[in-house]
Amino acid sequence: MAYKIKELFYSFQGEGAHAGRPAIFCRFAGCNLWTGREEDRATAICQFCDTDFWGMDGTYGGKYSADGLADQIMALWPGRPGEAEMASPYIIMTGGEPALQIDDELIQVLHQRGAIIAIETNGTLELPAGIDWICVSPKANTDIVVRSGDELKLVFPQINCHPEQFAHLDFKHFSLQPMDGPMIKQHTASVIAYCLEHPQWRVSLQTHKYAGVR
Ligand code: SF4
Repeated sequence: MAYKIKELFYSFQGEGAHAGRPAIFCRFAGCNLWTGREEDRATAICQFCDTDFWGMDGTYGGKYSADGLADQIMALWPGRPGEAEMASPYIIMTGGEPALQIDDELIQVLHQRGAIIAIETNGTLELPAGIDWICVSPKANTDIVVRSGDELKLVFPQINCHPEQFAHLDFKHFSLQPMDGPMIKQHTASVIAYCLEHPQWRVSLQTHKYAGVR
């Protein structure tokens, strides 16, 4: 299979339960809830996306084989002998929607290279086995089929998509994240208020944006 990649980059996970953790981001091109083109946003299922996942024109973007992609990802990891944490590259599969493309072969070749594989998915597509950290971020007006995992991270507020709909699902961590945009201050206050009232949920801030990095 040829994987279509928008970009690869090394940074830190800015949000959710692994906030602050160095990671290589593998951004797949394409999503099943929006084309990625502004002219289609108003008619998309998911309309608040803040990510450019269209095309393959980003850093290290392009079409890859499984081995080629794994090699390029590993080349970005600054592993040093004797540093235990650094010996296990942490890879975040994101998008777009990575579940459109990630498969057994890619998981296998990355595991063979010692990688820990995380995924950020909208949860509407089945996942292959073997992913080490599953984070589902539900979107309004969709049915999620990935109903268990490690983290459920909900962007808040969303019309027709409320924390109560997901609180019973089989996840270890529940994160609530303010929707970005002109109302970020109000949304952040709403997230904090909700989490203080419902301590099952934790406040997730997009710290990479505050830090001015990707
Ligand atoms: S599901 Fe995620 S990647 Fe797809 S349009 Fe929505 S926010 Fe963007």
